[in-house]
Amino acid sequence: MDALTPARNSANVLFLPGDGIGPEIMAQSRRVLEWLDRRRSVSFRIVEGLIGGSAIDAEGAPISEATMAAANEADAILFGAVGGPRWESLPFDQRPERGILRIRKELDLFGNIRVAKTYATLIEASTLRPEVIEGLDIIILRENTGGMYFGEPRGIRRATDGSRYGINTHIYTEAEIRRVARLGFELARTRRGHVCSVDKANVMESGELWREIVQNLGDSEYRDVDLTHMYADNCAMQLVRKPKQFDVIVTDNLFGDILSDCAAMLTGSLGMLPSASVGEKEPSGIRRALYEPIHGSAPDIAGRNIANPLAAILSLAMMLRFSFDRPSEADLIEASVERALAWIRTADIMQQGCRTGSTQEMGDAVLTELDHLT
Ligand code: NAD
Repeated sequence: MDALTPARNSANVLFLPGDGIGPEIMAQSRRVLEWLDRRRSVSFRIVEGLIGGSAIDAEGAPISEATMAAANEADAILFGAVGGPRWESLPFDQRPERGILRIRKELDLFGNIRVAKTYATLIEASTLRPEVIEGLDIIILRENTGGMYFGEPRGIRRATDGSRYGINTHIYTEAEIRRVARLGFELARTRRGHVCSVDKANVMESGELWREIVQNLGDSEYRDVDLTHMYADNCAMQLVRKPKQFDVIVTDNLFGDILSDCAAMLTGSLGMLPSASVGEKEPSGIRRALYEPIHGSAPDIAGRNIANPLAAILSLAMMLRFSFDRPSEADLIEASVERALAWIRTADIMQQGCRTGSTQEMGDAVLTELDHLT
């Protein structure tokens, strides 16, 4: 099967733990990466940098020029989370989030990939019936740098009668649609070979163009991939009704924002879900990519060694799969997580019959299971 990038045995990985629980959870994913380095002949040059509030405190900006240069040089970036009450009174353009937004923009990370996968051991965490979500493994690919959130004109204006109106523009170029669709087809080729493209072609011209471009690309270059189209409102309903009908959902920034949160909650647990933001393929064949848990910096539990590190560890697995074509190592990490969940849990996913573990102990458990499986 095709992969997003060629297999590599050596890579530059930039760790950006960030704020709040970021450093605690990222320490555990770093231990897993170091385990792989020792045991699986996958060699990584790890560089660590500051981002967000911690960078503001130590270096005077949410991301320094040196860290930005390291981000540009990295083959992949592993990011924790940023933000916290300490920096909330800063002006908007100096806040911690600016650090991560700058990386996304300068590296042109246009595709946001979220995997919604259920673990047998966590099936009861979902609000849906077990048979609806058992064995679920779907991807939502959201266009991340265009559309409604960036389109011009935008703003709040005053009409001639003195009343105000708000305006945003839902705009997509053919090139923007084509590149995210291409990524969706390539992802589908590494999986079950089905793309569902989601739009509102029934009421929006931008959606009409979206559908036409995706269909044309499918017809001309990806005939081996099964392509269907769905309206966004129906997709929201189908995600809750029968989510296993999907493989890869490709959609725009606005609909993707909503549908990816909906898909995330199918699995019921914020502390378990990884994501990736990826860019164009470079001449070297590698795609720029940043991997991160979908949750934030959780200041309410920061510094207490109780955060769930599994989303960070699974982000590492995602990196190995998508950036370095290392599916067997990614599978190994995912299997170790599943086995660890059978006997130990952090408080957020605690269940009767399991032992409560700290962040560090959850990391220990994954390493123990990695040892058992190899
Ligand atoms: P959050 O995801 O940080 O936390 C929501 C709730 O989930 C909290 O109760 C938290 O304790 C819990 N939680 C989150 N991750 C957990 C984990 N790994 N283990 C156990 N429990 C976990 O969202 P929030 O409270 O809305 O935001 C807190 C801060 O994080 C804010 O400053 C926000 O701006 C920032 N944030 C950052 C990112 C990012 O860096 N990508 C994303 C979302 C929010």
